[in-house]
Amino acid sequence: MLTKVIEQTKIDHFTKWFERADKIVIVSHVSPDGDAIGSSLGLYHFLDSQDKTVNVIVPNAFPDFLKWMPGSKDILLYDRYKDFADKLIAEADIICCLDFNALKRIEDMADAVAASPARKVLIDHHLYPEDFCKIIISYPKVSSTSELVFRLICRMGYFSDISKEGAECIYTGMMTDTGGFTYNSNNREIYFIISELLSKDIDKDDIYRKVYNTYSESRLRLMGYVLSNMVVYSDCNAALISLTKDEQNKFDYIKGDSEGFVNIPLSIKNVCFTCFLREDTERPMVKISLRSVGTFPCNQVAAEFFNGGGHLNASGGEFYGTIDEAKVVFEKALEKYKFLLTAKD
Ligand code: 5GP
Ligand code: MN
Repeated sequence: MLTKVIEQTKIDHFTKWFERADKIVIVSHVSPDGDAIGSSLGLYHFLDSQDKTVNVIVPNAFPDFLKWMPGSKDILLYDRYKDFADKLIAEADIICCLDFNALKRIEDMADAVAASPARKVLIDHHLYPEDFCKIIISYPKVSSTSELVFRLICRMGYFSDISKEGAECIYTGMMTDTGGFTYNSNNREIYFIISELLSKDIDKDDIYRKVYNTYSESRLRLMGYVLSNMVVYSDCNAALISLTKDEQNKFDYIKGDSEGFVNIPLSIKNVCFTCFLREDTERPMVKISLRSVGTFPCNQVAAEFFNGGGHLNASGGEFYGTIDEAKVVFEKALEKYKFLLTAKD
């Protein structure tokens, strides 16, 4: 059995909208990850089964390892089909905003979404949601937005209408946002939900392989290279890895090739905070990814030093300058937060 989590008034409110709506647009954040795509497609399959006209729109491309997902071919990329997407957004009855908490996270789509007369609902698990949707279904303690989508559909009374395809998408989002159920995943209800998804005949082992075991040779070599240059700050229980533009070119880098790298140094005994600095290929900036285990607040460091934010254990930000300069800033952050960086138990 599941606890309620989502307040009944929100379920009732959304159900009322849902019953009257025909055109529904689902949007998610820039550089969509497994949970962005998983939750969007999970909701998409459900709404589609209820004969709604549904479109999923994301700001830009998503990684190849998510392209097997049922429905992924129907996702509209805003940076390629702006005019068509603008029309869909403007004419929607409902816009569902999934897996982001602030309009700036959908970048160039933000104006169109803000200007649309559609009813807007936020379904998300990031802290401090901005007030841009009438219904705010935001629960930061929940593992993933995909889990929230599952809970929403069930609470509306439509568990039986979740298809195998929808279940596969929801499972993928839950799996990727918990690192294959290795963090943020101690809530026993997660495993009840997995059991329910398995009843839809999904092959979770196959999903794991399709998401995690599809490296190209160059990606694996790049991983070896990046790790060989890792810096470990033993006195702070922290580690740093980085990737310049030149290095990306040397390894035929394509988008997504460094996905997950930031987590690897956490497998060192006692390392509980890691940083990955990657030079952006398009803009003169360094993308920052931060991860921690335990109680160390990555999001505080991201907000204070890198104009970013995120979750306690997984955050990110941006730095306008060189990688070396970003590294100096990271070391400053370490100096300040060293007192919180105690060794793992
Ligand atoms: P990643 O390291 O995978 O890019 O991002 C991890 C998490 O950090 C994301 O899920 C998101 O919550 C947050 N995040 C990443 N980049 C940014 C950013 O530039 N600004 C903010 N506010 N949050 C970010
Ligand atoms: Mn998420």
